Formats: sequence, C-alpha cells, structure tokens
Amino acid sequence: MIITGYRTVVVGTPWRELAIIEVHTDEGLTGLGEVRMVNKTDTLLAAIDELAPRYLIGTDPFDVARLAWQIEVGEYGLPGEVGASALAAFDIACWDIMGKALGQPIWRLLGGAFRDEVPAYANGWYQGDRDPAIVADLAQQVTARGYGAVKIDPFGAASSTLTPAGHRLSTEILQAVRDAIGPDRQIYVEMHGRFTGATAAVIAHDIAGIRPGWLEEPTLPLDIGGLRQVRASTPFPIALGERIHHAGELRGFLEQNLVDIVQVDVTHHGGITGFMRLVGWTNAYNVLLAPHNVCGPIGTAAALHCCIAAPNVLVLEHFNDFADVWVHDIVDNPPRVSPAGTFAKPTAPGLGLSLVDEVVAAHPRTGGRLALYREGWERRQDVSAYAR
Ligand SMILES: [Mg+2]
Repeated sequence: MIITGYRTVVVGTPWRELAIIEVHTDEGLTGLGEVRMVNKTDTLLAAIDELAPRYLIGTDPFDVARLAWQIEVGEYGLPGEVGASALAAFDIACWDIMGKALGQPIWRLLGGAFRDEVPAYANGWYQGDRDPAIVADLAQQVTARGYGAVKIDPFGAASSTLTPAGHRLSTEILQAVRDAIGPDRQIYVEMHGRFTGATAAVIAHDIAGIRPGWLEEPTLPLDIGGLRQVRASTPFPIALGERIHHAGELRGFLEQNLVDIVQVDVTHHGGITGFMRLVGWTNAYNVLLAPHNVCGPIGTAAALHCCIAAPNVLVLEHFNDFADVWVHDIVDNPPRVSPAGTFAKPTAPGLGLSLVDEVVAAHPRTGGRLALYREGWERRQDVSAYAR
C-alpha cells in the first residue's frame, strides 16, 4: 500500500483552529489526523505542504518509524513545535490507515488494552468572570456532568509575579472551587509557565490547603532553576510537557526528578509513534503520562487510543464538553465522556471515526487564537474581544 495524496481542511472556532489532514492511499483507504496548532495554523499548513511530498507521498503508511526519522533527524534542522506537529498529523493518519487495513482499533496495535476506560479531566469550563462564587458554580456544574477532575488557571493575565490583590483573588478562586466540588475530586492547577520560581513557590505554599492534584508548568519551559525552586518548596506533583516536542527534550526533567506527570501532546510530539516512545522511558522513572489535548474529536481519539494501551497514563484532558461543543459533530463517532467521567475504549478499526463534511464546511477558518497574557482569555472568545 502506498500513500498517494492528502488534503487539509481547517475547522475554525473563536479561539482555536483545528487543522485536519486526510491521507489517501492507492488501495482506497484513507486516514485522518488533526492538530490544534497554538496560534500558528498557517505555519503548520506550510510545513505540511513542504514535508509531505518529501516524506509522506509514495511511502507505505506502516513505515511510521522511518517517517519520524526523516523529519526528526534526516531534515538536519530540528523539527521544533511546528515540525513535530506536522509529523504528528502524518503519523496519526498513518495509524488510522494501519488500523483500517488490519480491521483493528489502533490500541490493539499498541500492545492491546491496559484499561477499558480512561479518566477525563475538564478544561475550558471557566468562561465567566474571575469571581470565586461564579467560578465555584461553574465547577460544580462540571462535576455534576460526571467529571472527576477539573483544571483551572485562576491567575488571569499574570506574568512573572502576582500583585497582592491578584494573589488573594487567585487563591480565593481555588478555595471556592475546592469548597464547591468537595474533597474527593481533583483540582489541577494550571500556571501556564507564568511565574518566576519564587512566585510559583509562594503560590504552591499558599494553596496547599486545596491539595492540588498537580501544579502545571509553574515556570517557563526552559527555567530549570526556577522549577527546581518550586520542586523544593512543595510536596505536590509537578506536571509539564505540552511544550516538549522531542523525547530528548525530556532528559533533564527526568534525570533531575523535576517532573511527576509528563503532559506531552500527541499532536505536538510526533503523533502516536512519538507518544508511545515515551511510555517505557517514563515508566523507568516511575513517572506518569497525562496527555495535553486541546483538539477536536480526531486528535482526542488519537490520544485516547494511546491512553487505552499505555500502562502509566493517569488522565486525559478534554475541552469539548464546555468549549465549542459542536466540534463533536465534525465526525460521525466522536469520543465522548460518560456520566462516570471516563472515555470508553473505542472499538471500530483505526481511529474509529469519519469526517462529516457538511459540518466541517459550516465552520471555516476564523483566525482564532489564544492570548494567555491578556485579561479575559478565559472566555475563549475572539481575540479582538480581549482587553489589550
Ligand atoms: Mg497547560
């Protein structure tokens, strides 16, 4: 079987664009991939168009290790965020084709089912004012929906430090969420790399009472010293990895024991092949995986198949029950979170879903992006609506 061509299409929402690839073969099988590129959709599409004729067209879709080597090593220039995401789009589509060719869901090709369902955590649910009572009410709605865990960045547009008032408001929001959802559900505290090590360490100390399930990206990705300072100041787990795009970039974090939960995004880390590379390696360090996922249903399905197969997975992120709920409908069989807060094991061959072209066509590009250092980003509206 040989790959003969591809097409790309972008689904637009107010704050994100979902780039979808459909890869075609000479046997009539097609495969889907998806990437929600952070704010650089045009750049991703250009990388896809530059790399596909070189390394995708004319190859066997089963040869994913060679495809990865070509883009990660053979290109000489490092793939970075965009190159690793283009590779992920190709790789996920190839796995979809493999599953269809063999009549098996992808997880059966990754070692089989380690688990039958995958816990989900909710993101994108706090789109109201930064008011503790309002956020608490929204959090209660999320857990009433069945989710056993929520993630929140309560820090507004903070950068490097917090004002005393900002610190007080942020901690009050987190305490209100804990009071609203009770002691038995997880609160993952998202810091988006906002803080210096000292500021993050103070925050970690002051929010210990809510018992966070993890502290996510407390410092910028390359601020190892700051991260070490946070690590020394809190017993709570540290999660990071959504801005890691090649396995080698994880070495320092693992070898220095600076991470407990690795959050690489399947669609920014070389796809299913890139993610599964990390499973054994992180396991050797007794570290868990919790894939970052801001995708629509195709990227979510790719992550879900990995999570079914990989033993050391903790939980999978999900936006689509609270942000742009209609994105479920761009495919015929989207992964859904049950009333028990979990994704079920997919059963159909490949990823197990097909595009619904009419819905895709009804949601063209928006230029949607996220501006995390502007007040109001939590509302996930068009960026022109943000305060500057
Ligand atoms: Mg994050």
